[in-house]
Amino acid sequence: MLPFKLVYSEKYFLPIGEHVFRADKYRLIRELLLQQTVADESDFIVPPPASEADVLLVHSPLYVNKLMEGSLTAREELEMEIPYSPQVVEAFMLHTGGSILAAELALKDGVCINVGGGFHHAFPEHGEGFCMINDFAVAIRVLQKRGAIGRAMTVDCDVHQGNGTAFIFGAATHKPNPLPSWSPGAMGTLQGATMSEGSSKDVFTISLHQANNYPFIKPASSIDINLPDGCGDVEYLAWLDNALSSGLRQFDPELICYVAGADPFREDQLGGLNLTIEGLKRRDELVFRAARVRSIPVMVTYAGGYANCVEDTVAIHCNTVIAAAEVYRTVPSEASR
Ligand SMILES: [Zn+2]
Repeated sequence: MLPFKLVYSEKYFLPIGEHVFRADKYRLIRELLLQQTVADESDFIVPPPASEADVLLVHSPLYVNKLMEGSLTAREELEMEIPYSPQVVEAFMLHTGGSILAAELALKDGVCINVGGGFHHAFPEHGEGFCMINDFAVAIRVLQKRGAIGRAMTVDCDVHQGNGTAFIFGAATHKPNPLPSWSPGAMGTLQGATMSEGSSKDVFTISLHQANNYPFIKPASSIDINLPDGCGDVEYLAWLDNALSSGLRQFDPELICYVAGADPFREDQLGGLNLTIEGLKRRDELVFRAARVRSIPVMVTYAGGYANCVEDTVAIHCNTVIAAAEVYRTVPSEASR
C-alpha cells in the first residue's frame, strides 16, 4: 500500500477519437501500477466532478457558459485542438475535481497524485493545446477560497511552457535580470538556456520548457527556464535544481502543484528535448525531495506525454508514482526531524 493516494476515475478518458493525445493513457497507467504491484486497489480514490462555481474561480462566466451550452465558435474549437462534446466537458470537470481532491489530500498526507489533469494551456476565457479547463489553477483557487492555503507554487516540467497558468496567476512584470543565486560561472556548463524572473503574487509559477516549441507566445512565469533543443538529463536536472532552490528561497508556498509532463522524453512526438526515462524519474525525485525536506505538500498532475510508443509515456507516468513512494518512504520531513 502506498503512503499516499492516487486520484483516478475511469471517466478520465477523453472521447476525442484518433489523436496524438492518447486519452487511454490514464487507464493504462492504472493497469501498469496494479500489474507491477506498485499500487493496489485501495490506493485509488475516485474524485467527484468540479462544480461550475469552482471552475468560475478561474474561468470567465462567458467561457464556462459556452462549454456548458456547446456554443464555442469553430475557431475556439480549432484552437483547443480537440473536438468539443458534452462528454469531453464532463471529463474535464472530473479531471478538475480530481485536482481539487489531490490538493486536499496533499495537505493531509504530504503528497497526492492525480492520475490525470495538468491542463496548463487553458486560459480564463479560452482553451488551447488540448486543454479546456486549467484544473490545478482551479484547485489552488478553491483551497485559497476555503482558507486552507494562502500561497501556492506551480512547478511545471511539461516540455511546453505553462502559458495559461502564467497568465492566470499574473506574473505580469517581466524582469529579465538573473536571480541572485544565478551565476554564469556556476552554470558555465549549461550553455544555450536562459532563465528569467517575473513577479509573483500569491502564486509563484515556475516553468521549465523547450524554448523553441508551442506556445509561441509565452506569458512570463515567476521563473521561466527556456531550454535549448536537445537538452539532456544532466543539463535539465541542473536547471531544475537551480529553479527550485531559487524559487523556494524567494517564496514560501503552502502547496506545490507539480505538473509532471512526460513529453520532455527524447522520443516524444511533440517535444524536442532529449531526456531519458531514467532522467525523468530523477526529475520527479528532485521535485519530491525539495518539497519533502521542507515539509511542503505536493499535488501532482500528469499533463502531456506523446511518445512514439504509448508504453513509454505510461512508464514515465508510473515512475512518478514510484519516485514519490521512494522519497516519501525514506526521506524524513523537516517537521519530523
Ligand atoms: Zn506538453
